[in-house]
Amino acid sequence: MAALSSDLAPRANELCLEVPRNGIPHIAYVVPRPGDRDAHGNLWGRMERVPGGRVLFGEMDPERQRECMEGLLCQICGQPAEREGGTLFFEWQRPGAPPLRLDRIKTDMPPLCPPCVPLSLGHCPFLRRGESAVLLRVRKSILCGVGGTVYQARADLGNWLPAASNVYSSYSRPRQPGMLAARMYRKLRGTATVDPSELVGAP
Ligand SMILES: [Zn+2]
Repeated sequence: MAALSSDLAPRANELCLEVPRNGIPHIAYVVPRPGDRDAHGNLWGRMERVPGGRVLFGEMDPERQRECMEGLLCQICGQPAEREGGTLFFEWQRPGAPPLRLDRIKTDMPPLCPPCVPLSLGHCPFLRRGESAVLLRVRKSILCGVGGTVYQARADLGNWLPAASNVYSSYSRPRQPGMLAARMYRKLRGTATVDPSELVGAP
């Protein structure tokens, strides 16, 4: 799940400007590949893997993050994480932040299957700090938007330059033509907190 420090952002010459059917020019790859765009038409970043990169905990590989979010797959083992009684997600309770509003959570952290929860608690340094991670059982989650870098076309329209990073773009709003997505979000509904110790032996 964690990304490698050797993951690279796209080179400017891989990107071009395309005019789709709606007539609004948007960012595109010079050489398109299947799966470049999600169901809402957002273009996704491609990560080149350089062997030997250092693992960056807390960073996510966009391709895997998207697969896990779209398919509700476990962020650790990649197996289906959805369960009849509710799907497990983590959310952060940041120090000094107001308590989590369980009916308001929107997350880019993919779910977990029950057997992977102890593994995750034991291995990720962020989670080992314990107090900041809250385990949630979620009845329903809905794909709601993407996050990423918004590029702007230069005046000669020959080049895209990054203009804003960590931008959220909701699926309920018009697409950002310059968005290069790196994370997919779900909003969580019917959410309750769970004590991780209750999960021992869960399937
Ligand atoms: Zn798992």
